[in-house]
Amino acid sequence: MPGARAAQVSAVAQYSNAVEDCQPNLFQQVYGASKTLIHRLFPVTCLLCLDPGQPPALDLCRGCEEDLPQNLPACFGCAAPMAQTGELCANCRQHRPAFDRAFVPYRYEFPLVELVHRLKYGRQIAISRILGTVLAHRLAERGPQAVDAIVPVPLHPSREARRGYNQAGEIARFAAELLALPVLDRVALRVRATEEQAALPAIVRRVNVSGAFEVLVGCVPPAVAIVDDVLTTGSTADALAQALKRAGCRRVEVWAVARAMGYSEGATGKTPSR
Ligand SMILES: [Zn+2]
Ligand SMILES: [Zn+2]
Repeated sequence: MPGARAAQVSAVAQYSNAVEDCQPNLFQQVYGASKTLIHRLFPVTCLLCLDPGQPPALDLCRGCEEDLPQNLPACFGCAAPMAQTGELCANCRQHRPAFDRAFVPYRYEFPLVELVHRLKYGRQIAISRILGTVLAHRLAERGPQAVDAIVPVPLHPSREARRGYNQAGEIARFAAELLALPVLDRVALRVRATEEQAALPAIVRRVNVSGAFEVLVGCVPPAVAIVDDVLTTGSTADALAQALKRAGCRRVEVWAVARAMGYSEGATGKTPSR
């Protein structure tokens, strides 16, 4: 990110966080109401640097989209950051996950950490449009999609009720619209509330999510893409892919916006929770 833009983005982020910390409820009310009005009166504005966004409705300017941290090179199987292109990582060489491949265009770094956090914990649901759109843009650059539908990673109903929405479902909705793919958001169920993933080392996460999903048999097409906001160890996507394949899917891809760094069994670095 060039110096001037980085300083601008940093200043906007600091101001935004300071206001949220100071008056969280008032901030949400004023921000929500004023945003609706502002969008009617003025063109879209980049949430990161306050430059004009991309019409008709993307709150992210082209410069900030180009500056998002690319996840290149990455493992062909699980999208873990790699030293060289066109390889499988050590984990995939030992044990391929149930999904056939993963596409995750960005790394889970600034400013995506802040955007994902604001989407999941700040009730800023509009950020799902940004994340879904940039994911669709990068997928479209890759070429035609070899899947029939998108399946967002479901939250357990109790967690979705607390949050009010499923962030993966919202991201999937905007990506699907641009890619002209259907979203199957009722075929996969999270049947067991798992512990917060961020609190667990990778090897425990795999055990924690196994058996967490059920998929309605006879309701899934031959090829689907699982969509999530952040791919961390891949164990959640692996468990859902297993359930989809048990239900009849033959090919499962994983699409996520950002790949968490420090991927390894036993890693305990900063990772997102669901
Ligand atoms: Zn910008
Ligand atoms: Zn891999």
